Amino acid sequence: MKNGIRLLFSSLIFSLLLVMTGNGQPLVIMHTNDTHSQIDPYSYKGDVNVGGFLRREAAIREVRAQNPNTLLFDAGDFSQGTPYFNVFKGYMEVRLMNAMGYDAATLGNHEFDNGSAALAARLKTADFPVVCANYKFANKKLAKVVKPYVIIERGGHRIGVFGLAVNLDGYVAPQIAREVTYLDPVACARQMVKELQNQNCDLIVCLSHLGVNTNMPDNDFEIARQVPEIDVIIGGHSHEEMPQPNIVGKTRICQMTNKGKCFGVLTIEDL
Ligand SMILES: [Zn+2]
Repeated sequence: MKNGIRLLFSSLIFSLLLVMTGNGQPLVIMHTNDTHSQIDPYSYKGDVNVGGFLRREAAIREVRAQNPNTLLFDAGDFSQGTPYFNVFKGYMEVRLMNAMGYDAATLGNHEFDNGSAALAARLKTADFPVVCANYKFANKKLAKVVKPYVIIERGGHRIGVFGLAVNLDGYVAPQIAREVTYLDPVACARQMVKELQNQNCDLIVCLSHLGVNTNMPDNDFEIARQVPEIDVIIGGHSHEEMPQPNIVGKTRICQMTNKGKCFGVLTIEDL
C-alpha cells in the first residue's frame, strides 16, 4: 500500500486499486455515497464513534496533500437521515460538500424529499457540478442546474464524468416522482460514452445511484456489462461496502457503505 493513502484513524476504510500501465503521476479518486446528512460522528451496532464531517474533511485533506492529482465524487443521497436535514433543509450538507471541495456529485432519490423546486434552489448553492444523464426534469430551474456530464481536467488528463440515477417511483411521493421522467440508463450511458469519447476524454467515470442489487433490472453490474467503455462506476444507493472494487470487463465498480462511515480511495496509476 502506498504511504499516501495509509491514513491514521481506524474508522475510515479505504478501497484501493493500483492499475499499473506505465509511468507517470497516479490519479486518485476519492468517493462517498449515501452520507445521509450525517454531519456528526455516530455509533451504531459494532461501529463506535465513526464518521463525521470533520474527520472526513481531515482525511480528504491528507490524501490531497500526498497526491497532486485527486478527485472527490459523491454518488448521491447526501440528503436526509438526521435532524440537520429537517431543520436546515439540506443546505448544510451542500455547504459542507463545498468546503470539502467535491469535484462532482450525482442525485440520489432522497435529494428529492422536499420536491424539485427546493432541490433546484439548494443545488444553486453548490460549488460543484451535479450530473445526471437519465432524468428529464419538468422543473426548469432543476433542468438548468443539473448537467448530464462534466469534463474535468486534472494532471493533464481529461476525465469525463456523467451521472445515472434511480427510478424515483416508490421512493418519493407520487407528486414529486411525476416531476421527473426516468430514462433508460443503458441508452443514456451509451450516449454519454460516445459524447465523452468524441471530446477526447482519457477516463470515463459514471457516478451512479442505481445500486448493485441484481434483483433490480437497472444496476451497476448491468450497466458495466452493457456499456463496457465505462472505466469506473462510483456507486451508491445499496450501501455496499466494497473494500476492493468489483471488476466487470475493464470497468471497476466501487461503493463505500453509508453515513460517511468511510470513503473510498481508488488510485489509478499512470493513466
Ligand atoms: Zn438511494
